Amino acid sequence: MQQKKVVAERAKGCCEYCQSQVRFAIQSFSIEHIIPRSQGGKTTLDNLAFSCQGCNNHKYNKTVGSDLVSGNVVSLYHPRQEQWSEHFAWNDDFTLVIGLTPTGRATV
Ligand SMILES: [Zn+2]
Repeated sequence: MQQKKVVAERAKGCCEYCQSQVRFAIQSFSIEHIIPRSQGGKTTLDNLAFSCQGCNNHKYNKTVGSDLVSGNVVSLYHPRQEQWSEHFAWNDDFTLVIGLTPTGRATV
């Protein structure tokens, strides 16, 4: 499927949510809908993100989540509209993604 290849190349082979690399992954990566089809999301390039299995399962069909610090419901990270590094960072030994913002915390 051509669209899948385009999405994977655009993401440079990295999960757009946790930045893990497909070449180090045990499980296959998926193309996921940022706005789920159940909420009217389209199968177009700007609504598709390259995602590892863990992030894809975790996100499922959600677009909002709770920020554990403020308790507010905020929108989840949108890989097409936002910069990963503004919302997330790796911990010191690169085993955990840390949310830096309400959106980042709600997404992780
Ligand atoms: Zn991931």
